[in-house]
Amino acid sequence: MTYKVQKTDAEWRQELTPEQYHIMREKGTERAFTGALYYNKDKGVYFCAACGAPLFSSEQKYESGSGWPSFWAPLNEDNIGEQADRSLFMVRTEVHCANCGAHLGHLFDDGPQPTGLRYCINSASLSFEKS
Ligand code: FE
Repeated sequence: MTYKVQKTDAEWRQELTPEQYHIMREKGTERAFTGALYYNKDKGVYFCAACGAPLFSSEQKYESGSGWPSFWAPLNEDNIGEQADRSLFMVRTEVHCANCGAHLGHLFDDGPQPTGLRYCINSASLSFEKS
């Protein structure tokens, strides 16, 4: 997979915090309930913290109780890439930024209507802009 935004590992290490680098470039996961945006209820847009692509809106954010920011739909499906993740003895759907490849989180099918989807996203992968 090639992405529009291409950077070397050294460049990503320089631009991202160690936590962001671990999550977005090494598919890490922040501890539940620790992310800065989990409780955020402000209206606005959530961007990829690595490249600035618009990914989610407060309109689709909901309280999942999971400990990670959760959305029942992305702002634009074209901005989200999906990949099967067979780690940890499970088959899950990994989601990443389609513009730069940064790991965002996982997609589950236990979300609320109208989609029934839950995009479970690390706070560290997002930057929020209040509208
Ligand atoms: Fe990105």
